[in-house]
Amino acid sequence: MTLPRHTIAILGGGPGGYEAALVAAQLGADVTVVDSDGLGGACVLTDCVPSKTLIETSNAMTLLNRSAGLGIASGGLATVNAARLYERITDLARAQSADITARLAAEGIKVIRAKGRLAGPGRVRAGDAEITADTVLIATGALPRVLPGAPPDGERILTWRQLYDLTELPRDLIVIGSGVTGAEFASAYQALGSRVTLVSSRDRVLPQEDEDAANHIEDVFRRRGMTVLGRSRARSVARDGDGVTVTLDDGRTVTGSHCLLTVGMIPRTEGCGLEQAGINVDPRGFVQVDRVSRTSVPGVYAAGDCTGVLLLASVAAMQGRIAMWHALGEAVHPIRLDHVAATIFTDPEIATVGVSQRAVTAGEVSARVLKLPLATNPRAKMAGFADGFVKLLSSPGTGVILGGVVVAPRASELILAVSMAVEQRLTVEQLAQTFAVYPSLSGSITEAARKLMEFTPDAP
Ligand SMILES: Cc1cc2nc3c(=O)[nH]c(=O)nc-3n(C[C@H](O)[C@H](O)[C@H](O)COP(=O)(O)OP(=O)(O)OC[C@H]3O[C@@H](n4cnc5c(N)ncnc54)[C@H](O)[C@@H]3O)c2cc1C
Repeated sequence: MTLPRHTIAILGGGPGGYEAALVAAQLGADVTVVDSDGLGGACVLTDCVPSKTLIETSNAMTLLNRSAGLGIASGGLATVNAARLYERITDLARAQSADITARLAAEGIKVIRAKGRLAGPGRVRAGDAEITADTVLIATGALPRVLPGAPPDGERILTWRQLYDLTELPRDLIVIGSGVTGAEFASAYQALGSRVTLVSSRDRVLPQEDEDAANHIEDVFRRRGMTVLGRSRARSVARDGDGVTVTLDDGRTVTGSHCLLTVGMIPRTEGCGLEQAGINVDPRGFVQVDRVSRTSVPGVYAAGDCTGVLLLASVAAMQGRIAMWHALGEAVHPIRLDHVAATIFTDPEIATVGVSQRAVTAGEVSARVLKLPLATNPRAKMAGFADGFVKLLSSPGTGVILGGVVVAPRASELILAVSMAVEQRLTVEQLAQTFAVYPSLSGSITEAARKLMEFTPDAP
């Protein structure tokens, strides 16, 4: 006699949903994904993948603009073909979505293209179809938050999801919001050739991030000609012929050709039947989950941006996988958010992992902190840049690496060494004794560890 297969219905086909589907199928479950906009989700179609593709082009422009200093006579100013750029971005996003669609089909996962909602215990409605499931996973993502006084029109007042429909590069871009998304787009468009004004309601850009890194990047932005308006809260944005006027809370106005709103996300759960199902949400509407992705209702899990837990694709995917391992009775470790490696894709990039200096300053963790500028790194000199640093945090008693920050071109790749040290509880000494290639930027990571060794360990 064969036992009936565990049935799983997943609402949403972004990283939270499709990665969960792959794990569940691998474990033999009967899986259906209900997705309204295309597999890969906002991550692949409008957010992470398109923005990182845009940033690859902006990085190439930065390199071209540095080329004269590297001894290259380019014979003219490089300019961006906006139509080609946006076409490349949308083609690449669609191709990535198609790859994911093919992968799910190959694993025997059913996909229904429809808006779905919970229809009762163990029941999901997907358009006209109804699915019964032993386990339901909600992974419906989030939407750009908009300001009441700044309704996006898709032409001049934009959310980042509308950028790729433009046919030209914004001549004079005002970015409202200086969190991760705002800083990334401000950095990229400035490198692409737009004049950029960054409107920040806080004292500095990237208020949630490592203070040294945030100050460093703000300094880079200003040196490159960006206007950064600190402590300036936008009240409204109005279309003004072929331009926009942003009015700040204190009455000042800023004019430009386009305005990009990057003021956070709201959960995309409207119409999903959460309230009727009795699923608890937090005051901002994000689905409340525990560390194995369970909601307040048995048999219903949630993953990704709709939970408001670190809005990152890597975290969404891990929450989704953990939900499936748990639902299907596998051994599972609750999610650990203190070891998540993350990057802000400005130029230079800011990559972080583990304990932050803020936690040390607040007295929550005791740590030694060492910051080593990249300006003296031989590889940085050869490549013609001086902006950036490596910061390591270690336990004063044991010398174990607790965290780190890398500000550098491709810091997203360099952080893995620190991430492994944090995950594997390596000591400063072990990192210091590890070979780094000469010359390399990663040489600054081992050098920082050697400098940390100059502290004598405290007695246990
Ligand atoms: C500009 C930007 C850049 C980013 N860059 C990075 C980065 O570099 N690295 C990183 O790790 N993270 C990045 N992120 C974050 C990352 O995009 C999100 O964390 C990730 O998309 C979350 O995945 P998800 O599965 O929760 O949701 P989503 O990717 O939003 O997918 C949700 C899916 O559910 C579908 N859906 C919604 N409602 C329903 C419904 N009722 N029925 C059926 N389907 C539904 C949607 O159509 C969508 O396909 C970025 C975010 C932004 C805004």
